[in-house]
Amino acid sequence: MSTSIGIIGAGLGGLVLARVLHLHGIAATVYEADASPDARPQGGMLDIHDYNGQLALKAAGLFEEFSAIIQPGGQQLRVFDKDGRVLFDMADDGTGGRPEVLRGALRDILLASLPAGTVQWGRKLARVTPLGEGRHGLAFADGTTATTGLLVGADGAWSKVRPLLTQAKPAYIGTTFIETWLTDADLRHGASAAAVGGGMLMAMAPGKGIFAHREPDGLLHAYVALNKPQGWSAGIDFSDRAAAAAQVAAEFADWAPALRALILDTDRDPVPRVLHALPAPYGWRRRDDAVRGVTLLGDAAHLMAPNGEGANLALMDGAELGKAIAAHPGDVDAALCEYEAAMFACSTPVAAETDALFQTCFGAQSPHSLVEMFTQAHAA
Ligand SMILES: Cc1cc2nc3c(=O)[nH]c(=O)nc-3n(C[C@H](O)[C@H](O)[C@H](O)COP(=O)(O)OP(=O)(O)OC[C@H]3O[C@@H](n4cnc5c(N)ncnc54)[C@H](O)[C@@H]3O)c2cc1C
Repeated sequence: MSTSIGIIGAGLGGLVLARVLHLHGIAATVYEADASPDARPQGGMLDIHDYNGQLALKAAGLFEEFSAIIQPGGQQLRVFDKDGRVLFDMADDGTGGRPEVLRGALRDILLASLPAGTVQWGRKLARVTPLGEGRHGLAFADGTTATTGLLVGADGAWSKVRPLLTQAKPAYIGTTFIETWLTDADLRHGASAAAVGGGMLMAMAPGKGIFAHREPDGLLHAYVALNKPQGWSAGIDFSDRAAAAAQVAAEFADWAPALRALILDTDRDPVPRVLHALPAPYGWRRRDDAVRGVTLLGDAAHLMAPNGEGANLALMDGAELGKAIAAHPGDVDAALCEYEAAMFACSTPVAAETDALFQTCFGAQSPHSLVEMFTQAHAA
């Protein structure tokens, strides 16, 4: 194929796309805003599902490498109430189909699988100009430019490519996460470490909760969730670690000490995540010249509230788009039609499930609604 393919964003979705194209002998360039692979922490554990994320890694020929980085015991799941009572406890017997890996380790595997120079670091897309007949001119923040025959926006929640296809904008979902980290937890934070166990803890109540994962080297990584108005976290100085932690923990004043310690004992400055989502149903019409030669994948296409599916969908989108391009040599339009129809059919129902999931987690019947959901799923 002679079309020059430009992928904006070296997240999981963009990298899988580049990898699958490479396996089919198709070159692509990934333009990434970060200055280097290590420019910022890549976040915590991801459960990679056997019905989407794992299929994508198989298509990328990287399943063996993925299997080698699975965290043993990581699929253990416990649900607590606010008083620290365990309401649900599922051991990791290795058959769960959702093994946990570190996002950074998975990204490293993808990066290592690409020919040198595929990812161009420090290339933050600033502006896109349609040039007609599906070609696009890219202008980067460092003053450089490029031209694409096929442009793929894999640039996440605040995609610069998205406006070429849709006017949809992310909106605040009404829930803010605050991230905390407890290091060397088995020695220094024994009660919290025991509560989290080998995998994941969910401590829930109406309107609030704590999700905590065990990561390698005894690190506990928690997302503290609160239903709050937009702007609430802007009133907290997160660089004042102790004061910020105390302010967040005050929302959990009557919670068990081992759960509150996941906030109060943070060894790093807490980080707020003000959660946004795109309105569903997702989509755009591939009908006229304006949308030729450009598409989206992952969060750029269908940003959702965190539901355990986002990274998996991004991986799957990347793999499916790569396969569609390879299956239609010389006919990018046909490839995009095929890819987008499947991508929208897959992602839109997940958005509806996400609304229900948030109700289950944070609604009036929480945490019992959550326990019921897991009990039914486990029995099925
Ligand atoms: C708090 C939180 C917890 C989550 N937990 C989970 C989970 O447990 N499991 C799960 O499956 N999903 C989870 N998700 C969702 C998941 O992180 C995303 O769905 C996934 O990362 C999307 O991948 P992506 O490749 O589409 O985009 P991203 O991972 O966002 O990658 C986009 C890339 O594009 C780059 N970029 C952005 N703008 C530009 C630009 N202008 N020019 C060049 N490059 C650019 C970025 O630097 C980045 O590298 C979570 C999300 C949040 C917020």
